[in-house]
Formats: sequence, structure tokens, C-alpha cells
Amino acid sequence: MSSEKIKELFKSRGIKNTQQRQLIYDFLSKKNQPITAEEIYMVFSKKEKTRMNLSTVYRILDTFTKKGLVQKSGINIEGKSTYEINHMDHRHHMVCVKCNKILPIKGCPLDGYESYLGESTGFKIIEHHLEIKGICPDCQRK
Ligand SMILES: [Zn+2]
Ligand SMILES: [Zn+2]
Repeated sequence: MSSEKIKELFKSRGIKNTQQRQLIYDFLSKKNQPITAEEIYMVFSKKEKTRMNLSTVYRILDTFTKKGLVQKSGINIEGKSTYEINHMDHRHHMVCVKCNKILPIKGCPLDGYESYLGESTGFKIIEHHLEIKGICPDCQRK
């Protein structure tokens, strides 16, 4: 995503445009798997130009989450929340318990079941979480 596009997006959500926010948003939008704040921090602290405090990363992620640009994936790695771009579509993931790799699953297997459950019980379902754990092909080969 171009920096102009990101700027516009920030503006539309009432987020002040800063270089650090741009960096993190751009990074998350290119990343196709959830990532922890610590991992983001590690990536940016490698370069002098992009260096920022871990608390800054947390603060920015918090702002993005509140404004709906980013969401917590619902998956915790070593007790830490992971974040991903809010794709506006609902999705689930598979997690490898050996290397912590996270793979998105296309579509939602509970789609039909959720509406069935809602209709048959009168329960107004707001959200659901589904976590699939296993061992990825790479780790199985090891
Ligand atoms: Zn693995
Ligand atoms: Zn689902």
C-alpha cells in the first residue's frame, strides 16, 4: 500500500499520520499472518532509521485496534497476543505447535452452523473463535 493510500486511510479513521504509524501499518498489511508486538519491535529495531520503543509499538497497535484497522487474531504465542490487519472478513487459522507458524484458513467452517444454531436456539451469536493446532508439513519432515 502506498504511503498516500495509508495517509488517506488514517485520515478517514481519524488517526494522526506519523512515520511510525505508517511503518507499522505498511508492515502489517504486507504480512499475511498474525504477529506479536515483540516481533514487530524486533523487525524495526534492526535499523537505526526505524527504531522505536516496544511501548510505542504497543501504543500504535492499540490505536489501530480501537480504530478497527488492526485486530487481535485470537491466537496467543507464548502468552502474547498476535495482531493482524483487519481484512474486514472473518477468518480462522491453523497454528503449528512446533514452530508457531500460523496459516490462514480460507472461509469459515462454522458459517452455516452458526446461523443454524442462532435460529434453533434464539441465541444471538456475536462471534466465535476456532483454533486449529497441529504440526506443519515442514516440522513433520524434521
Ligand atoms: Zn511447524
Ligand atoms: Zn468462523
